[in-house]
Formats: sequence, structure tokens, C-alpha cells
Amino acid sequence: MKMKAAILWEPKTEWSVEEVELDPPKAGEVLLKLVGSGLCHSDEHLLTGDLSLDPAVAKELGVEQFPIIGGHEGAGEIVEVGPGVTTLKPGDHVVLGFIPSCGRCAYCARGKQNLCDLGAYLLAGRQVTDFTSRHHAHGKDLGLMCCIGTFGEYTVCAESSCIKIEPDIPLDKAALVGCGVTTGWGSAVYAAGVMQGESVVVIGCGGVGMNAVQGATLSGARHVIAVDPVEFKREQAQVFGATHTAASIEEAMPLVNELTWGVMADKVISTMGVGEGKLVESIMGLCAKGGRVVWTNVAPINDTDVSLNLFNFTLQEKQLVGSLFGSANPRRDIPHLLRLYQEGKLKLDELITRTYPLKDINKGYQDMRDGINVRGMLIY
Ligand SMILES: [Zn+2]
Ligand SMILES: [Zn+2]
Repeated sequence: MKMKAAILWEPKTEWSVEEVELDPPKAGEVLLKLVGSGLCHSDEHLLTGDLSLDPAVAKELGVEQFPIIGGHEGAGEIVEVGPGVTTLKPGDHVVLGFIPSCGRCAYCARGKQNLCDLGAYLLAGRQVTDFTSRHHAHGKDLGLMCCIGTFGEYTVCAESSCIKIEPDIPLDKAALVGCGVTTGWGSAVYAAGVMQGESVVVIGCGGVGMNAVQGATLSGARHVIAVDPVEFKREQAQVFGATHTAASIEEAMPLVNELTWGVMADKVISTMGVGEGKLVESIMGLCAKGGRVVWTNVAPINDTDVSLNLFNFTLQEKQLVGSLFGSANPRRDIPHLLRLYQEGKLKLDELITRTYPLKDINKGYQDMRDGINVRGMLIY
């Protein structure tokens, strides 16, 4: 079949919306009609070239990263299933997980489905079933962001990327739980392990950070200090439960010091647009002795430099932990968060600042760069 999708032909260019030829699903795959897609910062990393495919994986599979259909925060309805698909049927509603979870590898078996071994192929952009393409344009195979490619009206992806949800949940809101919401919420609830009465700092209040604010609030934090240079995002953070705000790490320092009587924050969650190693030391400075800093934001793939006072790191017994998908389990937490939404405990509607048709995707990303959206969203 033919459909429209946004393709990035090479890094440092623009998204190009054009006609794509889509093959039917093969074994273990499904065809989905997508309702829309969140405009997440991780796709911007494709555009800037910060998110590049490991040359060893490219060689192993014989694939190139570009051209690629972007998008990894989507939801839709199953149209057709390929041979051997047993858990889904046409008409089912699903959220796409940006990490496939096979259910069989050692990580899946111990409930760490966010670390499924199939994650090694996330940036290879092919079907994780047989490592070939179903999407083509101008005679070339197209890659798919996170093996799902939600910047298109339809997609074909693996059954292992699909999380079935209840049919009465609005799909456009459900899409957000595929990446930003779960990543932010889980960063607070699981990776940071926020407990009642703790002081929590969240650095960067976009589509991920806003949900770290909401996760910390739902966990009963006493102070939730939201740090963002954009005034609109600081205002919005208060809608999601922030008790205090600051425009920068420097501005947060005396505020956290005063609020905690010099103890500093129990937990600090870093959810900036781009993670920068040179900021680590000042972020650790916001954290109390024995406290924990969670590093959720994506940094440029080849960055290895970190500024960190290793003397204080030892003597103050601080923790610095990485977190992928909020250390959450897509099969458990996506339906779990959608139930919280239905019960009015989790805010999703308030996250979507603006919606765009597919053809305006470049405007949507410009608005993200300009900081005027918590989350921009494509609606097909
Ligand atoms: Zn994302
Ligand atoms: Zn697995």
C-alpha cells in the first residue's frame, strides 16, 4: 500500500513528507493505522547527528541508518496481522513501545523489559523479526526510528513493539505514554525511587521532565523543584505539581539549600533536551549526602567527558544512575499509567501544547527548539 510519512534522508537536513510504499506484515509483524505521534527530542538527535548507528551493528546487518522514517511515540489500531502473531488481532488498540520486548531474553525474564536484548537493534531501523525493511521510497529501503517509525499514517512493526490497551482510552493521549510520560514518571518513581517527604529537583521540564515532576508529586515528595530556563515551562510545571521553580541550576542551588536547611535534595532527575557531561558536577551539587542523581536525558553518542568531583562522590556516598524508559517495564507500566489517567491521577491532556498535521512536522520541531511546547504532537 501507499501512505505518507516523514523521512530524514540524511542528518542536518529537514524532515521530508512524501509517499512511501509499505509492504504487508511478514511473520511476527502487524500493520497499524497510527493516530498520531509525539514530537520527542530523541528524533531531533537523529537530525543533529547525535544519535548514530553503531558501525558494528550496521556491518552485522548490512544496513545504513539513513534514510529513515522518524517517530517513536505513537499509538494506533491494528489493521492486519502477519503469520504467527498470537496476541493481537485487527481492531485492537495498541501503544507502541520504543523498545521492543521479546519476553524471552534474560532481561525480559527478570522484568527489565526496558533493557531487552532486542534494544541493540533500536537504531538499525529494520524489522526486528528478520532485519529487512517493509518501508520503501524512491527505490530505497527506509529505516524506522526505534523499529516503529511513527511519523507516518501507517506502519508495519514487530508484535514485540506493541502493547495492547483498553479500547476506550483516547489513542492520541495514549501515544504519549509510549515514550515521554513513562520515561519521566519512571525516572522519578523507579530510577530515583522517590519516597514520601523527600525533596526532589527536576532539571529540564519538557515532555519527559514534566512527567518526572508528576511522578515525584504522585510519590508524595515534599518539595518538587522544577528547573527550566523557559518561563512557560516553569509555569506549566506547577500544574503538574512543582512546589518551586528556578530558571537555572545556579538559581536552584540557594533555593534548594534554603528549602532543605542545607541538606540539599534527596533525589535529582536530569531530563534536559541534551545531556551535557560538563554539567554533571553542578547537578551533583544539588544532591544531598547519600542522595541519588538520575541521568535520563540523551547525550551525544560519542561524548565521554564528564566533570565530577570524585573525592566528594566517594566521601558523600552519592549515586549517579542512568535510566532508560524510566527504568519502567512497558508491558506493565503503559497499561498501569493509562489506568491512572482514567482515574484522574495522571495528567496527559495538559501535556499537549500544540498539534500539527504531518506536513507541518518541521514547524513542530522549530516550536520545540523555541521552547514553546511541553509536547507538540502530530495528528493524522
Ligand atoms: Zn522519546
Ligand atoms: Zn527481551
